[in-house]
Amino acid sequence: MRIGIPAETRPGETRVAATPETVKKLAGKHQLIVQSGAGTAASIPDDAYAAAGATVVPDAAAAFGADIVLKVRAPDDGERALIRPGTVLVGMLNPFDADNIAAMAAGGLSAFALEAAPRITRAQSMDVLSSQANIAGYKAVMVAANTYGRFMPMLMTAAGTVKAARVLIMGVGVAGLQAIATAKRLGAVIEASDVRPPVKEQVESLGAKFIDVPFLTDEEKEIAQGAGGYARPMPADWMRRQAELVHERAKQADIVITTALIPGRKAPVLISEDTVRAMKPGSVIVDLAVEQGGNCPLSELGKTVIRHGVHIVGEPNLACLVAADASALYARNVLDFLKLIIDKDDRLSIDREDEIIKATLVAHGGDILRK
Ligand code: NAD
Repeated sequence: MRIGIPAETRPGETRVAATPETVKKLAGKHQLIVQSGAGTAASIPDDAYAAAGATVVPDAAAAFGADIVLKVRAPDDGERALIRPGTVLVGMLNPFDADNIAAMAAGGLSAFALEAAPRITRAQSMDVLSSQANIAGYKAVMVAANTYGRFMPMLMTAAGTVKAARVLIMGVGVAGLQAIATAKRLGAVIEASDVRPPVKEQVESLGAKFIDVPFLTDEEKEIAQGAGGYARPMPADWMRRQAELVHERAKQADIVITTALIPGRKAPVLISEDTVRAMKPGSVIVDLAVEQGGNCPLSELGKTVIRHGVHIVGEPNLACLVAADASALYARNVLDFLKLIIDKDDRLSIDREDEIIKATLVAHGGDILRK
């Protein structure tokens, strides 16, 4: 089969869906068609793809004309027009964007949105949300350290002692856990909050303090369990109690990193304007949820702003700032996914009964399979 890897065109997108490592694994059995420059932003020259066995083509049309197209982000209208009906498209295709899915269905694509993979053990090696959130959590701390006008670790010098930075992490999924681990390595003192009860133990095992917001009703306890590994919106009363505690902790914090998401919904507001106003001058908020509306209402998409003396970083896609490793991990996720739809005779075989296929296949044969 022909497998195409076009260059990503979305502004700020630096990643690529295949690397020489993954191309090499596929090249013996399939024809790999890489658009020239596809890996440039991830520090992968065309030569490296060619050496791994790919054919490097000058324009997007040849890569989009393959039987299977590997992408990072969903194609735009112009790109979709280059894809033939019946083509398999694999990428982070945004399963909650109904218009985009309808357009892919109308184009006759078999579109797999990898973000929709279920959180089961078998799907872990193809879990793009985890691989990219891990990187975003790391980079959030790096960006915060860079923006913050003081040291992270405690330092005792001849000129006096410098206190360790206090870091508050809101939302401790994959990104939040990596943010804790990274801030810890830099010597910060860390506190963290999440709705899901198992998180407490994970936070403490990384040497951070968990901000306990007790559950006062069975309903609160039940909702906090989440669904399918994801959080659900908490009742207003619990959110109010959390906000009160967070307000006090944020006043003491030097750096706040927020990562709280609820799939398919606007991100919960966890750091209100009042809380920002109460924070120390020069402190930093990095809002990883900015693309979903933000955990702080003052965050601005794609910008770093100073509000009430606090630097608020609204960089939407921190994984793109670590392009080489983000691509390496994403490409391995994609390769593992391909093993699910290519059989032992190297032919396309889509098992519609498979749990991972069912969850990720958003358009097929003209039908919209997920809204
Ligand atoms: P996510 O990106 O959807 O959300 C980030 C975090 O925000 C979550 O921990 C969520 O509980 C938290 N959050 C939501 N609302 C909040 C609020 N009001 N206050 C504070 N925190 C709030 O989450 P994620 O990083 O994708 O991972 C969630 C969990 O799923 C993790 O425990 C992860 O280890 C697990 N996971 C399991 C698998 C698997 O089993 N295959 C794969 C990936 C992730």
